Amino acid sequence: MLGNLNPFNKPIILKTVNKLIAYGVAQDASDIQLEIIPDQSLEAKYKVYGQFADSLYFDASLAADVFAKLKHLADLSLKDFSGSFTLELPEGLIKVEAALIKSGRGEIINLKIKPLKPELFFLDELGLNQDQFKLIETNLCAKGISLISGPSRAGKTTTALAYLLGCNSINLNLYSLTNQEQIKLRGINQVAIKNKNARSWNEAISAVAKQDPDIIYLDEPPLDIDFKPLAALASSHSIIISLQAASAFEALKKIAATNLYSAAAEPKLNLVINQRLARRLCPNCCFNYHLDANIFNQLAQTFEILDQDLIGLELFHAQGCAQCGYSGYLGQIGLFEVAKIGADLNRRLSTDGADAKAQDFLDSSMSLSLAEDGFIKALKGLTTIEELKRVI
Ligand SMILES: [Zn+2]
Repeated sequence: MLGNLNPFNKPIILKTVNKLIAYGVAQDASDIQLEIIPDQSLEAKYKVYGQFADSLYFDASLAADVFAKLKHLADLSLKDFSGSFTLELPEGLIKVEAALIKSGRGEIINLKIKPLKPELFFLDELGLNQDQFKLIETNLCAKGISLISGPSRAGKTTTALAYLLGCNSINLNLYSLTNQEQIKLRGINQVAIKNKNARSWNEAISAVAKQDPDIIYLDEPPLDIDFKPLAALASSHSIIISLQAASAFEALKKIAATNLYSAAAEPKLNLVINQRLARRLCPNCCFNYHLDANIFNQLAQTFEILDQDLIGLELFHAQGCAQCGYSGYLGQIGLFEVAKIGADLNRRLSTDGADAKAQDFLDSSMSLSLAEDGFIKALKGLTTIEELKRVI
């Protein structure tokens, strides 16, 4: 449903709805939570990079109408607690997914803001360090299965698109299978999977396997589907899979349990990229401080990598300014761990599964862990230790 003018609505109501969402887009908010509070005004809480950062209040004379308008736009009713609509803002077309939540205090509407045109980055713009970037670049179109893992909202799609852009060449036949909104990329055959169920994925995989693909990207496929048509291709083609996993090792463990892994011939797994998104320190209001023994002891509980030598090191905080909306953070950066999966680890996964020995093989082939990459970025003033503790 398009959020354009509807004759039975007062223009001020729609204007307020647009304003409320446009403010969220300008703040890079992912969610807006709306609730009519006891004084009858409407509170809009904005979640930015995973944290409630800001609130706006709308007059009681508008509150009920704005709330009703949002329910109407998203088709929210007593029967249907979720819906969506698109809205055209000066920043572009955005999709808003709405969910109605009943709480003890009354109704809450949660709006998820999804830009229909996510930003495109190239591999060298993601924030990978030089070794990680080189490792990915040299293995880009290598045979076997490559994984991009992390929790939800860790930037996996951005990395996958950058990876595909890196592979993109007129001589290659590239396929991307996803059930999310996607940007049209020149030279890549994009297959939209309408239903999230296993059957739709199985049909799409069988169809793509017949098209003589060179590179196939699967965007968070259910892991219990039938991967066999792809397994036959894995030894001579490049298969890239994004999946939800907390660590690179968990990603390996999940894939090793699929029929893609068991049915694929050598070399099976090629590369694993595990990542997080952290808020970037605002360069306008950040200041340095020194790591004292007290903070060190707290950190050492989370980060095993820390050494007593680090006491006294310079780290950074931000006080907040108008430019960063007084949050101290502006934008986001990626934190990464990248490993090439060698023959020894592949053999171990095939014979004994993802056991402690397999974890040792993985650890020894990884130049930098997620925590180490994050810590280096904190030392460079790109983020804070508190942010690392939140996301890692
Ligand atoms: Zn600032």
